[in-house]
Amino acid sequence: IVGGCCGTTPPHIKAIADAVKDLPPRKVPTATPCLRLSGLDALTVTPQTNFLNIGERTNVAGSPKFAQLIKAGEYEAAVAVARQQVENGAQVIDVCMDEGMIDGVAAMTRFLNLIASEPDICKVPIMVDSSKWEVIEAGLKCLQGKGIVNSISLKEGEEKFLTQARLVRRYGAAVVVMAFDEKGQADSFERRIEVCKRAYDLLVAQVGFPPQDIIFDPNVLTVGTGMEEHSNYAVDFIRATHWIKQHLPHAKVSGGISNLSFSFRGNNVVREAMHSAFLYHAIKAGLDMGIVNAGMLEVYEEVPKDLIELVEDVLLNRRPDATERLIKFAESVKQKGKAEVVEDAWRSGTVEERLTHALVKGIVDFIDADVEEARQKFAKPLQVIEGPLMAGMNVVGDLFGAGKMFLPQVVKSARVMKKAVAYLLPYMEAEKKLSGATNKNAGKILMATVKGDVHDIGKNIVGVVLACNNYEVIDLGVMVSCEKILQTAREQNVDVIGLSGLITPSLDEMVHVAKEMERQGLKLPLLIGGATTSKAHTAVKIATGYREPVVHVLDASRAVPVVSNLISNRNKAAFVAQLRAEYDHIRSQHGGQTAKLLSLEAARANAPKLKFCDFPQPSFTGIRTLSSGAFNAARCDCGSAHGHAGAFGVTLEDVFPFIDWTPFFHTWELRGVYPKILTHEKHGEEARKLFADAQKLLGQIVAKKQLQLRAAYGLFPANSVGDDVEIYVNGARKHLRTKLHFLRQQIIKDDGTPNWCLADFVAPKSAPDFLGAFAVTAGIGLPEIVGKFKATHDDYNAIMAEALADRLAEAFAEYLHKRVRDEWGFGKAEQLSNDDLIAEKYRGIRPAPGYPACPDHTEKSVIWDLLDAEKHTGIRLTESFAMSPGSSVSGFYFAHPESKYFAVGKLGKDQVEDFARRKNFTVAEAERWLGPWLNY
Ligand code: SAH
Repeated sequence: IVGGCCGTTPPHIKAIADAVKDLPPRKVPTATPCLRLSGLDALTVTPQTNFLNIGERTNVAGSPKFAQLIKAGEYEAAVAVARQQVENGAQVIDVCMDEGMIDGVAAMTRFLNLIASEPDICKVPIMVDSSKWEVIEAGLKCLQGKGIVNSISLKEGEEKFLTQARLVRRYGAAVVVMAFDEKGQADSFERRIEVCKRAYDLLVAQVGFPPQDIIFDPNVLTVGTGMEEHSNYAVDFIRATHWIKQHLPHAKVSGGISNLSFSFRGNNVVREAMHSAFLYHAIKAGLDMGIVNAGMLEVYEEVPKDLIELVEDVLLNRRPDATERLIKFAESVKQKGKAEVVEDAWRSGTVEERLTHALVKGIVDFIDADVEEARQKFAKPLQVIEGPLMAGMNVVGDLFGAGKMFLPQVVKSARVMKKAVAYLLPYMEAEKKLSGATNKNAGKILMATVKGDVHDIGKNIVGVVLACNNYEVIDLGVMVSCEKILQTAREQNVDVIGLSGLITPSLDEMVHVAKEMERQGLKLPLLIGGATTSKAHTAVKIATGYREPVVHVLDASRAVPVVSNLISNRNKAAFVAQLRAEYDHIRSQHGGQTAKLLSLEAARANAPKLKFCDFPQPSFTGIRTLSSGAFNAARCDCGSAHGHAGAFGVTLEDVFPFIDWTPFFHTWELRGVYPKILTHEKHGEEARKLFADAQKLLGQIVAKKQLQLRAAYGLFPANSVGDDVEIYVNGARKHLRTKLHFLRQQIIKDDGTPNWCLADFVAPKSAPDFLGAFAVTAGIGLPEIVGKFKATHDDYNAIMAEALADRLAEAFAEYLHKRVRDEWGFGKAEQLSNDDLIAEKYRGIRPAPGYPACPDHTEKSVIWDLLDAEKHTGIRLTESFAMSPGSSVSGFYFAHPESKYFAVGKLGKDQVEDFARRKNFTVAEAERWLGPWLNY
């Protein structure tokens, strides 16, 4: 032990040295090196690991079906083959594109990239299989995790072998080494071990290849060919395997098993028996893995004894007439293999069973053919709907109701149902002409997003779920006036009306609709749903205006039982009595309930006293625009009259990394935080499927630029004056451009914290402070995407597209905020990951009007005026100040280091009156817009 810089050993170190001087050094433990592979999941091959199945069906050389799909460019179906392999137990999948008519590099790249976004496939490691090095390298470039190269060999000499091995190592893969050398294929025991030994020594000594990452393929060759020189092939393979495991430490052995039985093509009984007997012996000798058809492995013990004996005679080369005897037997057995235990087994059920299965699993692939078969079987097309289809949907409804199926699955089931009904419709029309019969359904429901609001994902989901349960849903869409809702309800003679809305002004509109229903004497139950609605608001504000039942429906899974109770002659009375009791109780608890608040004056006296010492200087002031499409504000003819300070491009790819996925799963009623939700023990699998579908659609949207991004934003000289923020025409701060009006917390603070107001984050006159504003949309192009999906009865993807556009809008807001912080100067030094950005771990905030810190939606009109936002972005404000299109976000930028989000909470009459004065509203108008926040 050496001392410090001056050479003396500190006494405590010396004491340690003295204490241990007679002890031997620790022995470094030696761990057995294991072959470690991975896709999304890790796969560690220890000596205890059972034989690994490598799926062989994604190989164009071995599977004519797969080859056909690749040649026809039907990659989706090709991906399904890979999925089926994994579902059937393949722990690795072999991908091979070696075929004369296929461009191997392109096909390998495309296919691997496609499966990379299918977590249920790419959870397993990939074996990139090609005899062309450039195809292997193309594959390696696409692999995530640690895959296997299949294969390299000494066929073309040592130099090439070593170069390729080094590259494999650099790409971080394991490698299969075929038993080939300059002389050709090693086919005897001696040749096999000679070639493998030489390759092993070269790899370990010269390349430094970890021996556990070397997998030998000592050539599984065809037996039973009738040729004398082939008869010992299997025996030699098994012996070579044994030898390799004994003499080449840590190396693994693999083989392509189907080759073995090639001479019995067409006779699956014999082939499977050969495979299982061969594997039985080879695994005993040390075979670690094999390329197999994972769905078609027979268990050795289950192969009939007589057949095993004949097969083993051939494999183990036990008698000269072995092949002849096996051939004779082969001719006698029925030409029927063990059914592939693929998911497709359900295809052999009755048509009713198939329809139910397709509905429950959401599979649309065979629906037209199956429905056609059912149509021919039943006397009338309607009976197909009322019989097997409804039976299937009942299963779906029951499973969903019992929490055993999740919303995305139900929506996929609905897609199957819709396609089936669409197929039958022309036949039913023809039938109707003859007989006049009509379809019976469980009831008619009218749904609408109320006037002034554009949000409809929740409503669409509820509509789909109801339709699944045989309700006829009339969906009037968004921004529907009260008159239109009531008129349609009468004309169509509906059984229930459902109202939806997202923003707080919609609550008022719902109250209005309820009162109108009362005034006009309607007798229908009313359902209330949407993000800002609540049971309390429904009970206190809406139900009190209408004497028929008014029910708040929390989410899609509640919609069906509520509606069925409301429509049922038997259950309705009890259901309604219970509802009324519950809502009475809620009302009694809320009755006259007001919080104790500070006067506005006292609240202002408790405003925070923030320091204003650091004023970052923006690199520009005025308006800038961003857009992804042809709409470029370079075309803007507004000149500089309103300070247009530049127009810039942005792409969907720029914005995509900023997506916060957690709310996406909430939209689909899957609770949890991304990415952990993907491994959630109950709904992780559904979350993964949903996520994979989302990635797929998003990929299409991005590739085809189906959505456009547009934004307008600006930075302006600004100062606070009380609870207002003045925005000036220019840096002289003399001429007012406009004014923002904020609200202050009035709750009594016992903990000494201030009563916040957003204006507090801007310096008072006339410090050189600034404030920003923005409006972004990702909703342009959305109606076209949704329309296309709806036209093919694909509500699942229609809803998915809406959910994705919402995500892109929020991501765009995050992206733009980053850009603005940079342009404002203080963001440049940030070192934040995308996750940190999504978690908003930066200086400054972007509160949005309508949210808790600034609950007044009408302030959006100030932003629109300031940014000329409708002209620059195409986003329009509705009469309720909702933004249309829906996938849009707007707000203010504050830069103060202490700026933060808070909730204004309840407002006293004094503040409402003051606010009305400042905004030039009547008090009644102010009260209308601030309705949910009034404390009186
Ligand atoms: N990553 C999220 C971002 C939206 S939620 C997503 O993709 O959905 C966060 C945004 O909501 C903030 O950036 C702000 O614009 C708004 N917000 C949140 N709390 C707020 C509050 N108390 N007052 C005003 N706006 C708020």
